[in-house]
Amino acid sequence: TIDLNGRTAVVTGGAGGIGRAIAERLAASGSRVAIWDLAVEEGERDGFLFQKVDVIDETAVAAAAIRADDVLGGIDILVNNAGITGPTELLEHYAYAAWRRTVEVNLHSVFLCSRAVIAGMRARAYGRIVNIASVAGKEANPSMSAYSAAKAGVIGLTKALGRELAETGILVNCVTPGLIGTELLKQMSPEAVAASRAKIPVNRVGEPKEVAALVAWLCSDECSFSTGAAFDISGGRSSY
Ligand code: NAD
Repeated sequence: TIDLNGRTAVVTGGAGGIGRAIAERLAASGSRVAIWDLAVEEGERDGFLFQKVDVIDETAVAAAAIRADDVLGGIDILVNNAGITGPTELLEHYAYAAWRRTVEVNLHSVFLCSRAVIAGMRARAYGRIVNIASVAGKEANPSMSAYSAAKAGVIGLTKALGRELAETGILVNCVTPGLIGTELLKQMSPEAVAASRAKIPVNRVGEPKEVAALVAWLCSDECSFSTGAAFDISGGRSSY
């Protein structure tokens, strides 16, 4: 079993499908957990510290990190999970504002939230940062170019930051889920969901708790010799 007793964690996008499952799994393993999301009311409820944060607002992220640090007594674990798919559009039809927002929410947020917690982790010589990328960052994903580019960016940022921090006790890894049954799929066109569904060798959509189990391991002391790595969780899709 994964033991996170005495640990503290921040999960961005923790009100959504995968983020909520991760927050619950970390809490069940003994961690205190702060949830940063746009879609929450501030306050301590159900064992979680809920913080209303837009993860692409530099000032809000910095303030949220200070508050979480105060309330939880340091931040040992950061799961950068908040994300949006953006519109399913051919690139030539993409509005710049939609492109920019998709890259900001999926990629710039990882920079902002990580930067806000690294100093504290460094001071304690311990940290686990886990980024939720996507198989979309590794393979051709027509009509989701902004999302694919942003998620490929998350994989690249994971490698760079993992290397930067390799000697500090802070490990940085990412996971690349395939199709997981959450509200996110409503942002995609039915055709894009069907095309993605057809590529799953195990022939079913994944569940948020299956991603959460992998993330919990990456957040734990059991994960001790991996950094800058991307872990696939896609029902065999990456075997294509
Ligand atoms: P979801 O829509 O259920 O949850 C996303 C959460 O992020 C929501 O609670 C939303 O309010 C929050 N969020 C969005 N923008 C935000 C912002 N600017 N600031 C703060 N919070 C914000 O989606 P999900 O499927 O649980 O996705 C979670 C992560 O997993 C995303 O990064 C997504 O790209 C990734 N992912 C999902 C799938 C899938 O098939 N569902 C596959 C691969 C990767």
